[in-house]
Amino acid sequence: MTLISPWRADFPGLLALDREGQTYLDSAATAQKPQTVLDALLAYYAGGAANVHRAQHLPGERATRAFEATRDKAARWLNAADREDIVFTRGATESLNLLAYGLEHLFAAGDEIVVSAAEHHANLLPWQQLAARRSLKLVVLPLTPQGDIDLQQATTLIGPRTRLLAVSQLSNVLGRRQALHTLIQQARDGGALTVVDGAQAIVHGRQDMQALGCDFYVCSSHKLYGPDGVGLLYGRRGALQRLQHWQFGGEMVQQAGYLASTFRDAPLGLEAGTPPVAGVIAFGAALDYLGSLDAQAIGNHEAALHRMLLAGLHGYAGLRLLGEPETALACFTVDGVHSGDLAHLLTEQGIAVRVGHHCAMPLLQRLGVNGAIRVSLALYNDESDLQRFFAALDKALELLR
Ligand code: PMP
Repeated sequence: MTLISPWRADFPGLLALDREGQTYLDSAATAQKPQTVLDALLAYYAGGAANVHRAQHLPGERATRAFEATRDKAARWLNAADREDIVFTRGATESLNLLAYGLEHLFAAGDEIVVSAAEHHANLLPWQQLAARRSLKLVVLPLTPQGDIDLQQATTLIGPRTRLLAVSQLSNVLGRRQALHTLIQQARDGGALTVVDGAQAIVHGRQDMQALGCDFYVCSSHKLYGPDGVGLLYGRRGALQRLQHWQFGGEMVQQAGYLASTFRDAPLGLEAGTPPVAGVIAFGAALDYLGSLDAQAIGNHEAALHRMLLAGLHGYAGLRLLGEPETALACFTVDGVHSGDLAHLLTEQGIAVRVGHHCAMPLLQRLGVNGAIRVSLALYNDESDLQRFFAALDKALELLR
């Protein structure tokens, strides 16, 4: 029996790509959106747009209510202790940049920031820049050959000068779920702040902030079946309050004067200017949609597809996987074949996969490759997508070898 996604028909964008002959296997870059998310976007604009938190008029109140309802939904989705622990940003990247600016005042020269070798540029460059501004040391945790953070080495590398640990839960290249509990505990015991990049992990299983125990957690709506231009920053009680305000303008002000001003507390104090109102409301619809589905069934479906993907890839001589991916995606190179050429031939056959350094250049360098092909899966993919991918891969390799 072939594996069919019961949720595929909920995604009009995917069906449109089907009709165009495109096989979408790039959901780790961005996901397609369910109809309910499109409906929410249209309903907001068609029903009368209004700004939030400012107006007393009916459309303004309605928009504010819907916008703030997403804060409640996001808090529930992440099992945050309080709705006020959720800050809306424009994406995971902005959340991380906000943190790197907002926490800057806590660092002194010689302090250490610890990241893993598997970080996306979004969770590396903001810290690198902060380190340069404040003369800090960036410490990089090595990985095991499978792609896990080497916990033994981490124990010695997280030390008395560590002020911050910033690591991703699921690498967008290696597809390994990191066991962050112990690391977070160790860092926190030593008095360091902890940041978790959940941009990939949150898509493949709900996360519990209170159980994870990190100070900050970031993710993007667009990978979680919501609109782009919206991100989350979760901050544990007391942690958000340590952030300095970073963007200044409308609505984040308590009292403004010509020469000096005072600012609101988080979350609104960190949400300067008009936020992406429609996007946030529609992100709420994405969370409603996901909440209405059977999480176990999604997990089983994605796991079965991933097993098929790996089994298929293992059948190719000279195909080298990066790490040992255990969920949602696989990155690979093929001996003697340029990844760019291979990607070109796959693209010509309507296969939408990603090629390149996947915004993790230092990691690819460390793995000794210039570029790799990434196949990534979402709940709407079917076995038929993989069949088309493998047929195209056969053809492409026949031409190239
Ligand atoms: N971290 C990881 C692990 C990612 O995969 C991505 C997106 N590729 C990001 C951070 C950044 O997310 P965004 O581009 O949505 O800000």
